[in-house]
Amino acid sequence: MNVINAQTKICIIIGDPVEHSLSPIMHNTAYRALHIDNQFVFLASRVSIEDVEQIVKAVRIMGIRGLTCTIPHKLEVMKYIDKIDPIAQKIGAVNTVVNDNGVLTGYNTDWIGAVVPLENSLGKNGLIDKNVALIGAGGASRAIAYGVIERGAKLTIYNRTIETAKILANELGAEFASLDQIADVKNANIIINSTNIGMGSLANETPVPDKFINRDQVIFDAVYVPFETLFLKEARAKGATIIHGIEMLLHQGTAQFEYYTNHPAPLETMKTVLYNHFNIHEIQKNKINIAIPIQVNGSIQSIKKRVVQAVASGADIIEFRLDYWRINKQIDDIFLKLLRNITPIPVILTVRSAQEGGKSILTDVERISLLRRAVEHNFDFVDIELSTLVKHNIDVKDFKKDSSTKIIVSYHNFSTGDDLSTLQNIKDQMIKKGADICKIVVTSQGEETNNVIFNLIKSNKQVGHVIVGIAMGETGVSTRIKGPSLGSHFTFVTVDKQGNTAPGQLYICD
Ligand code: NAP
Repeated sequence: MNVINAQTKICIIIGDPVEHSLSPIMHNTAYRALHIDNQFVFLASRVSIEDVEQIVKAVRIMGIRGLTCTIPHKLEVMKYIDKIDPIAQKIGAVNTVVNDNGVLTGYNTDWIGAVVPLENSLGKNGLIDKNVALIGAGGASRAIAYGVIERGAKLTIYNRTIETAKILANELGAEFASLDQIADVKNANIIINSTNIGMGSLANETPVPDKFINRDQVIFDAVYVPFETLFLKEARAKGATIIHGIEMLLHQGTAQFEYYTNHPAPLETMKTVLYNHFNIHEIQKNKINIAIPIQVNGSIQSIKKRVVQAVASGADIIEFRLDYWRINKQIDDIFLKLLRNITPIPVILTVRSAQEGGKSILTDVERISLLRRAVEHNFDFVDIELSTLVKHNIDVKDFKKDSSTKIIVSYHNFSTGDDLSTLQNIKDQMIKKGADICKIVVTSQGEETNNVIFNLIKSNKQVGHVIVGIAMGETGVSTRIKGPSLGSHFTFVTVDKQGNTAPGQLYICD
């Protein structure tokens, strides 16, 4: 860690309130990752709207480098700065003020925050000619509306106050409608919520009844607390592709980071900080984030029954183990699509090789091709062994392409434990390959191995790498129980003895 000194530049977020803001941890962790934490520091301050003019004066006097504005200051700040970027002008809001030697320029990065996750999901140019239904016409909606129109979509804005929807629609060349016409969203390719519905006192409400959502749609919620709103949960259950509000927060933040520092933003680090933040809450809430493996070897109906049983038992994640497949018929795209859509919770897809303790009878080439198809079908997570990536010279980014699937890169030692430096080295190789999650599984030889796993989890949590660390076998059980509370992303648990996929795996009743 570098030391803050007299040359360190200040960036600051102002809002009212601001104490909930994730910008400081996101930016400061990114500074540390790039070793520029002696050059920049990111703070937060609650400022009331009548003091914004004074704050802008302070920015000039103190040479503050970046002023991030959140609710309710995005309009107010525009009155006091020197220049406004044309896009921010068109949107009518500024969330990023850059101080270049005393000249203050206002930008808007919220629109980038909306467009990038949509294009990650739909592919580049994927918004062209798509019918987008945007619910809401407030500040966030203005940025989202600008972004989707800029990228070629056809937009209809639905709002409680029809007049506001009309004004925005007329400014940008969109259609508008009232919430009484919400049934029409069933014909849209993409539905976006940018109202307050789904958060705070409206957490049990959804802007769109699920009867109007179908599996071919992309559903995006700008709300990011809770991490997954009722709107997204119901859309997931319908098999639609969903995008969480945290993705918007992330990408507006990376764009802002680049304005302030002139360095490319460390996307994965910033993403990990945000996801860790929410996972910590999930883990605290559920005590342990539980992944239940399901051996896939039968009809979709029989798998669906096991999914229902797993969800009812408290699963947070389902792992489909395709290496158990013994049916004399290839797994085709229709089956993969059905598999993708039968769970209301996140899914991992695994085709574990025999060399790493799995049951697959496929060649590596066939396994890799199956995993690639799983990525194309947007499974939430796809698990591939580090040894397979190395042997076939594959990088995760080539594997992922434009998909939002997170890649778990895994390592299994079925004979013994490894020492900490060996495991850190393996984890470094995984990160270098581009892993989103590093899964490291060894065989417990007792307390010593378990402590190595605990240290691995703790040290990587501190640097923002997402780890699943497990020591298998009877003596490793404590790593399965205690690991998640230290920062391991999830733990595997089975519903019954038949579902067991690794030594020492616990039953849900444990
Ligand atoms: P805003 O300017 O106050 O706009 C609020 C919008 O929600 C308006 O369209 C309002 O409709 C509508 N609304 C509020 N309560 C409603 C209700 N009970 N029923 C129907 N409509 C209702 O707020 P904002 O800054 O745009 O923020 C909106 C949401 O986006 C918030 O949840 C915020 O957290 C989220 N957001 C997320 C990000 C991110 O990075 N993910 C960034 C910015 C904002 P009326 O016009 O009728 O009042």
